[in-house]
Amino acid sequence: RAKEQGKNVFQFYAREMNASVEEKLVLLEGLRNALDCGQFSLLYQPKVDLRSGRIFGVEALIRWQHPEHGMVSPARFIALAEESGLIIPIGDWVLQTACLQARAWSDAGLPQVTMSVNVSPRQFEEKRLVERVAQALSDSGLPAHALEIEVTEGIIMRDLAQSVGKMSELKAMGVTLSIDDFGTGYSSLSALKSFPISTLKIDKSFVSDLADSADDQAIALAVISLGHRLNLRVLAEGVETEQQRRFLLENDCDEMQGYLFSRPVPAAEMQTMLLAQAQAQATLEVAA
Ligand code: C2E
Ligand code: MG
Ligand code: MG
Ligand code: MG
Repeated sequence: RAKEQGKNVFQFYAREMNASVEEKLVLLEGLRNALDCGQFSLLYQPKVDLRSGRIFGVEALIRWQHPEHGMVSPARFIALAEESGLIIPIGDWVLQTACLQARAWSDAGLPQVTMSVNVSPRQFEEKRLVERVAQALSDSGLPAHALEIEVTEGIIMRDLAQSVGKMSELKAMGVTLSIDDFGTGYSSLSALKSFPISTLKIDKSFVSDLADSADDQAIALAVISLGHRLNLRVLAEGVETEQQRRFLLENDCDEMQGYLFSRPVPAAEMQTMLLAQAQAQATLEVAA
């Protein structure tokens, strides 16, 4: 009986594994053509100043429209793109597209917002990253200070000296840097001190239960005060409720991002939001 059950269990796992290996191969095959076939797009999620409620930046988030699987989330394909090396051309496309979009908004007369682009480990380690960033800036005509690169602690800690060197080169160009998903990775406080960054992004896993969890409150407060003592701005990601927003505002967090304000949206919708904000501002100025 036990042996039989054991065998069934094994078959079950074997089937599961085959399914995932097969799925991986299918996705990988699709991923190879996705760039050429124009299946990627970017959504943009506003970054909002907690005190004024103003949008000061947007984060570019990639989407893949697979012909059979529909919309595939980056959580599923970024790791695969990393493993296969496809992240290099895909990441280049993201950088180029995001910079062109930010430039197009400012050409359309909208006030400049910071464009944030996520960079994953292999992309960050690639030796021509700085060149690629410089290229995207010059191709688009976007000023360097309008571009921000988001990296995770894990990326930096792989080779601390080299990472800090690379970040310093980007900073020297005028590009700003932030640490994404802060608190989920491993970075020593002494290392954090040496990062040439401007913002810490509190991971959304600490924000989701902020209203009820004393532990998450303690973590959020600690990150806010650590960030401020290091002269950094602190952004909370994944803000979904008014209670979370109030807690963060009352505890001196600087910025937020999350469904409460807006989900990631297509460029045209983002442009409408930016325009509405600029018009509201202009109305205030006329009234004053
Ligand atoms: P991330 O950079 O930490 O982005 C935040 C994720 O949280 C995004 O998921 C966003 O859609 C989601 N999010 C935003 N607000 C809320 C909220 O209020 N509640 C909840 N539950 N989620 C919220 P998304 O777009 O699926 O991206 C997942 C991850 O994939 C990103 O995490 C980033 O690490 C990676 N990624 C996305 N786009 C790119 C890209 O262009 N290049 C690279 N290398 N990685 C990317
Ligand atoms: Mg990010
Ligand atoms: Mg994040
Ligand atoms: Mg994340």
